Amino acid sequence: NNNNNQRTTRTLGSQTGRVPVGIGRRRLRIVVTGGAGFVGSHLVDKLIDRGDEVIVIDNFFTGRKNNVAHHFGNPRFELIRHDVVEPILLEVDQIYHLACPASPVHYKYNPVKTIKTNVMGTLNMLGLAKRVGARFLLTSTSEVYGDPLEHPQKETYWGNVNPIGERSCYDEGKRTAETLAMDYHRGADVEVRIARIFNTYGPRMCLDDGRVVSNFVAQAIRKLPMTVYGDGKQTRSFQYVSDLVNGLVALMEGEHVGPFNLGNPGEFSMLELAEVVKEVIDSSATIEFRPNTADDPHMRKPDISKAKELLNWEPKISLREGLPHMVSDFQNRILNEDEGKQA
Ligand code: NAD
Ligand code: UDP
Ligand code: UDP
Repeated sequence: NNNNNQRTTRTLGSQTGRVPVGIGRRRLRIVVTGGAGFVGSHLVDKLIDRGDEVIVIDNFFTGRKNNVAHHFGNPRFELIRHDVVEPILLEVDQIYHLACPASPVHYKYNPVKTIKTNVMGTLNMLGLAKRVGARFLLTSTSEVYGDPLEHPQKETYWGNVNPIGERSCYDEGKRTAETLAMDYHRGADVEVRIARIFNTYGPRMCLDDGRVVSNFVAQAIRKLPMTVYGDGKQTRSFQYVSDLVNGLVALMEGEHVGPFNLGNPGEFSMLELAEVVKEVIDSSATIEFRPNTADDPHMRKPDISKAKELLNWEPKISLREGLPHMVSDFQNRILNEDEGKQA
């Protein structure tokens, strides 16, 4: 029963012989699903750095062992190849649930699998949270707002989502995941936290992931034209990954369920983004127009007043400051790739 479960977690530290970390806080055991991916691996770095135990669950669909290889051999780190669509038994204090392909190219590749990951995967992690009394954080998305009719988007906006389109497996999948989280919260007293993440970029993004920042950066480095879809006037707001990770941890540690928008309110059209990439990488870079994809949202920009007020969080790193960190990571990886081809 629920009360027993909660007691179990509170005493878990002493049962497993884990020692306290710092003053007044014991070491936590934390699961990060999707922890071998882009955002997940940066989150894992932060949790390991502050002294906690981290178990990564990942099926390596879009994630890579390389992203977490620097923790191999650390007794506080464990990596499990597992698909969250299948149940799993673990004893943990917190669950950061990130497992889900995030780029349109990847989530459209097998849309039914994307829905299963969002629905069955989230259900399993909530079942786990309920059984052991763990706190559960869902990484939802700004895509729950669809092609928004309200600008900028507040958490109170219910969205404008096509239920039968090509993006629906992801948008509706995440909306259902939010519903599940709230129903486990109301019905089973699970402590849940919901983050609605806006476009995020940084080192370790997949080179071939099709998202606009990774495409433009890789194209500019390879001396290829940057591919602008549609007229390039659609807008997005780009958040550097360390800002997001700080927001996720603040949300998990805080007292509020959410949902909270986590994003950088700086808004850029795709043509403006191409200009910034030119400035940072190569002033001779060119652009090339391509047809846009179906149901592409025309604009997106977070209203982050709620996170500012209740989580005391706001992003610190502008696009011009963050981009160079991603560029040096991409340059190294593209160089290694090219050397690999020659060898
Ligand atoms: P990513 O593709 O780099 O990471 C996702 C990880 O989940 C990968 O390691 C992948 O192998 C793993 N995974 C996928 N399906 C799985 C399954 N069935 N079982 C186990 N592991 C599975 O993407 P990301 O950018 O790091 O995104 C992480 C989370 O943040 C996702 O839930 C995504 O929806 C959310 N999010 C990201 C952004 C962004 O801009 N990066 C924006 C909004 C929301
Ligand atoms: N589950 C899991 N690990 C656990 C507990 C539950 O993977 O430690 C899965 C379980 O297999 C089920 C889902 O989570 O598919 C929901 O569990 P819950 O107990 O809420 O519902 P029920 O099992 O009654 O359907
Ligand atoms: N986009 C683009 N060129 C690319 C990739 C994407 O112009 O090479 C556009 C895309 O049409 C969309 C925006 O960039 O309007 C953001 O796309 P992305 O796939 O990065 O993320 P989304 O916000 O659509 O999930």
